[in-house]
Amino acid sequence: MVGDHCNLSGERPVLSQTPKTGLSCKMVLQAVGKVLRKSKGKPNGKKPAPEEKKLYLEPEYTKSRITDFEFKELVMLPREIDLNEWLASNTTTFFHHINLQYSTISEFCTGESCQTMAVCNTQYYWYDERGKKIKCTAPQYVDFVMSSVQKLVTDEDVFPTKYGKEFPNSFESLVKKICKYLFHVLAHIYSSHFKETLALELHGHLNTLYIHFILFIREFNLVDPKETTIMDDLTEVLCTTSGSVSSNGGGNGGGGGGNGSSSSGSSSSAGAQNHVKER
Ligand SMILES: [Zn+2]
Repeated sequence: MVGDHCNLSGERPVLSQTPKTGLSCKMVLQAVGKVLRKSKGKPNGKKPAPEEKKLYLEPEYTKSRITDFEFKELVMLPREIDLNEWLASNTTTFFHHINLQYSTISEFCTGESCQTMAVCNTQYYWYDERGKKIKCTAPQYVDFVMSSVQKLVTDEDVFPTKYGKEFPNSFESLVKKICKYLFHVLAHIYSSHFKETLALELHGHLNTLYIHFILFIREFNLVDPKETTIMDDLTEVLCTTSGSVSSNGGGNGGGGGGNGSSSSGSSSSAGAQNHVKER
């Protein structure tokens, strides 16, 4: 049974396990304090700036990646591979990686620190299976997302793994929903937990995951560009400099042709037509 809304009643399979980062809470807090002191400057009695500076946009951090791999090529549908298989495999992998990335900061994402699921100035609400809007804290929201996605990707009727078993008609729209929610989680990590991510020195992982994910959803038009506008400033910086990140060197990006146009949906995808327009 595939409902229109992600199911709420799922158990909490993944997030309930606290991550073993090898760092004690105290160590991380100390490191966070250090980053905070470094980034904020002296409080000199002036009013705070109208919009808080986005630490994740600082060039010294946006440069950080764990690989210079050309993700644009990696996300493309390989010949001989079925589109749905490709979407299923990638979506499942992104779910695991984003879940893992969130788990590294989950102890700092509490009902107190994040009373709403906020990304910059936008607040997200969860909708239960009957479509009822639910106001919830960020950790609750993420838990809803991860539980329902876990349920879907392990449902043999939705993400079939057995030979000869067909994907349901609703498969693509479900993948779109999953990607939309996973994007919210990534965006929340950036907007509310970048300092902790930095303290854990995991910003290179986060940036790399973000680039890979954004290029994937663009390639197959999986998320409405309006939905991702909120992070356009970051996307612009990360996804247009992917591959050659230094301002003076550069030379490794020849021949790619990606001249930095970040307009969504402009990339021609190999086989992704007939996208259902949502909302
Ligand atoms: Zn949070």
